[in-house]
Amino acid sequence: MGPVTAVSATVGSTATEDLSLRANSLMPGGVSSPVRSFAKVGLPPFYASRGEGPRIFDRDGRSFIDYILSWGPLALGHAHPGVVDAVTKAAREGLSFGTCTEREVDLAAVITGALPSVELVRFVSSGTEAVMSAVRVARAATGRDLIVKFDGGYHGHADAFLVSAGSGAATLALPDSPGVPAAATLTRVAPFNDLESVEALFAREGDNIACVVVEPVMGNAGLIRPLEGFLAGLRDICTRRGAVLVFDEVMTGFRVAWGGAQVAFSVRPDLTALGKVIGGGMPVAAYGGRAELMELVAPAGPVYQAGTLSGNPLGMAAGLAQLTELAKPGVQEEMAGSAARLADGLAGAAQSAGVAACTASIGSMWGLFFTEGPVRNFGDAKRSQTEMFARFHRACFARGVLLAPSPFEAGFVSSVHTDTDIAETLEAASEALEEACAA
Ligand SMILES: *Cc1c(COP(=O)(O)O)cnc(C)c1O
Repeated sequence: MGPVTAVSATVGSTATEDLSLRANSLMPGGVSSPVRSFAKVGLPPFYASRGEGPRIFDRDGRSFIDYILSWGPLALGHAHPGVVDAVTKAAREGLSFGTCTEREVDLAAVITGALPSVELVRFVSSGTEAVMSAVRVARAATGRDLIVKFDGGYHGHADAFLVSAGSGAATLALPDSPGVPAAATLTRVAPFNDLESVEALFAREGDNIACVVVEPVMGNAGLIRPLEGFLAGLRDICTRRGAVLVFDEVMTGFRVAWGGAQVAFSVRPDLTALGKVIGGGMPVAAYGGRAELMELVAPAGPVYQAGTLSGNPLGMAAGLAQLTELAKPGVQEEMAGSAARLADGLAGAAQSAGVAACTASIGSMWGLFFTEGPVRNFGDAKRSQTEMFARFHRACFARGVLLAPSPFEAGFVSSVHTDTDIAETLEAASEALEEACAA
């Protein structure tokens, strides 16, 4: 019996199956973004009906402790009253103006206050736009064309980045997407945590490298921490070679620490891309950095970049409300404690079950690979047992724990995941591991 049959027999879903059938005839693959397909773990897509705190409910009325959290943005959990109130108030005042508003100035002040490297910031609507635009600035500033990224690093779906791009592409086996023209040949790829490879790229083509773009903590190839000195090493290479260092903190921003990985690791990039958490669940992203670079952006400078809905008032309200909560003393530390307890507990459970696994956490992000480890780059990550992950995922799902449906995604916790939620999750995970091993 195949995994799909096994699962649908257990859950006997109806609304989900109906919706999934309808969606398949209306939308490519039935989804609005490829990661939402649960095909790799043998499940139909998840149809959310509502969320409350750490829990998400599906259209069949089932309840799950949620570790996807909208793929990172929901640092305060689902439908946080402070965020919902702020958005509701903003909505009553108007959904969009296409003009400047006070809220965007306020959110810009919070962001520049939290990230020491960001002197000026521009709001956009998606992380994809943020990184794409940061690269445009880097190319304009240097007059060079090449960009360096890391194997398994995901920076959104702009052409130049759909090369060795981590979870979505890796899981769906689309390392190079058709439809991406020669632009991608301006992209060079190095293994994460390997400064020598970066040095070698610069030795060969340094005079034409505009920027190095990096997720300072990898989150789209599973969670991979930077080794001691790696980020500082990139800083040093870029400074020496006149290239721009771009931190893609779309995922790590306000998750690895208040501010982001650049605060946690004390390394200052030239430009930073943000998204996810800064929008509180609304489509908000941003890029920013040194004033000298950001002043190249129109209308201050000649680099064109624009957006009809950029700085949308509902998004700004959600972001402000969420960051205001996250700034309160102890919130980041509490989330980090939950993520660490989860990672440690999962490691212990795997050991008890006799399953090769390695786990990690940093801030409110955590990860699990079904391999001995250590996992220092995407090559190591790809050694993990994907079939084991699929069985584990389904067994967790059946016990009310929702994990990202890919072995190459980071997990998240929110400020409202309680000790009880974590304990329940670990209990479910222990059983799930036993079941996954028995299969
Ligand atoms: C999610 C993500 C992006 C893309 O953001 P979108 O809002 O989905 O376009 C870019 N970079 C990183 C590191 C991300 O995690």
